[in-house]
Amino acid sequence: MSFNSEARNCRVLANPNKLVELKIAGRYRMIPVWATELSFEVRPGQKFDARAWKYWKPVLLLLNEVAKKEKLKINWVRVHSHFGHKGDVPHAMGWWDHEINAMFLCHFDKETMLHEVGHALSSGYHGDPWAKQASRLYLKYLKGKEQKDAMIQLAHYLSGRRVYKTLYGEKAPRAPEIQSLWKGLDPG
Ligand SMILES: [Zn+2]
Ligand SMILES: [Zn+2]
Repeated sequence: MSFNSEARNCRVLANPNKLVELKIAGRYRMIPVWATELSFEVRPGQKFDARAWKYWKPVLLLLNEVAKKEKLKINWVRVHSHFGHKGDVPHAMGWWDHEINAMFLCHFDKETMLHEVGHALSSGYHGDPWAKQASRLYLKYLKGKEQKDAMIQLAHYLSGRRVYKTLYGEKAPRAPEIQSLWKGLDPG
């Protein structure tokens, strides 16, 4: 290794948020160093706004940890940005593709990501197996208010209400309606 490339590596190590150019799914994209060090490939959506990386960082670092602990093989994860979007984002907050072992994330919260990991570890869409996995993941990987809110979100699904009742011995409170996290979000 030459002196120059060593020096370059040192600089990269010093700033994990630095953007580097990388060929992803056949196209050159700019992604932060930390996103190149995960067990899965991170694929920013078309027209991804680099200011969104800071919102994705904690979610993708946790996903990396979860994939390792749950022995889940993920090929790649698509992430979105929708700064300045008017009205509702016209697609799901996240989904999991069982055939290609890939995750799509629009909502940059840990709950959405764990909801999708729940799908990856179960089958039958939002049935009981999914609700059991999702609640187990929320209890294991979330804390405090984040955990409580996620458990309440389970009440959107009949399966989730059953799991909640079993765990807490009482009916789940009504889950608040979900708003897109991108609505009115300041890119900072
Ligand atoms: Zn989206
Ligand atoms: Zn789902």
